[in-house]
Amino acid sequence: MSVDRSTIWPYRDGEPGEFYYQRHGHPTGVEAERRLGELDGGYALLFASGAGATTALVLALLAPGDTIALAEGAYFGTGVAFEELGRWDLRTVEFDQTGPPPQGVQLVWLEAPSNPFLTMPDLEAAVAHPAPVVVDATAATPIQLRPLEHGADFVLHSATKYLAGHDDALLGAVVCRREEDAARLKEFRTRTGIVAAPDPCFLLLRGLKTLELRVQRQTESATELARRLEGHPKVQTVRYPGLGGLLSFDVAGADEARRVETSLELITNATSLGGVDSVLEARARWEGDRVPAGLLRLSVGLEPVEELWRDLDQALARA
Ligand code: PLP
Repeated sequence: MSVDRSTIWPYRDGEPGEFYYQRHGHPTGVEAERRLGELDGGYALLFASGAGATTALVLALLAPGDTIALAEGAYFGTGVAFEELGRWDLRTVEFDQTGPPPQGVQLVWLEAPSNPFLTMPDLEAAVAHPAPVVVDATAATPIQLRPLEHGADFVLHSATKYLAGHDDALLGAVVCRREEDAARLKEFRTRTGIVAAPDPCFLLLRGLKTLELRVQRQTESATELARRLEGHPKVQTVRYPGLGGLLSFDVAGADEARRVETSLELITNATSLGGVDSVLEARARWEGDRVPAGLLRLSVGLEPVEELWRDLDQALARA
């Protein structure tokens, strides 16, 4: 399919058709939503970014005074977005997602696996809770986890990451279990304008064609790298849940982490994750003392695993 960048489409016989104004919907977005919906087993909607999808979902579902139970150690930006919405009296409590969520909350927000602590949620305990359950499955992808099949109500993706997969498209998605929730969220999206443009939707469609292959390869490489890092004398802790291409490991402190970052030759020292090129960064730069000073997050790309190991090993030798 090619990109249709039109913002308007002509009426037929004086009546608007399926597409009439881009903020309401456009063919590239609808096709990308159809493909993603199939992958996750639900009704997908795309947004301007993962953070935009998060904002739209909580504003559409909740009211002032409501409380979100947020998985401890989940993506830093999600907590920051909820903090911002605190000015509209949306409250957040953190909980350990490996156990049941607290009572008295109106939404449960899990992350599978959490970024950068790589814990997996207890989905069974969460879906037994009366509140709707959202699973941010950005790092697992629908190739390795389909939360709607486990009873979750919504899946959230930063499609910027594995789904688009090439570090050149900013995009978010919510996949709903129920069609009526998707209809409500779509109405909210049209009215508020937190929409996805056609070009990133096209790049998502292209990325989805290789998603399974990429995730398989990245998982194999990450599994091997996690195993070797475990035995490295400069590495104190390795966090890897056994799926996906994301892992984190700790060196002694901030100075050591900085030396690893600046000694890399193949792996890029940059933020983000989920692309075909490997990237690594010390997360304390963004998250402060919420994470250990020596925590390095590694997103494993498609490079040969021996080359990745050689780079990590030589950078760690300088730590
Ligand atoms: N959720 C997770 C797990 C993420 O890692 C990110 C971004 O890093 C987001 C959501 C936000 O997505 P975006 O950067 O596309 O707004």
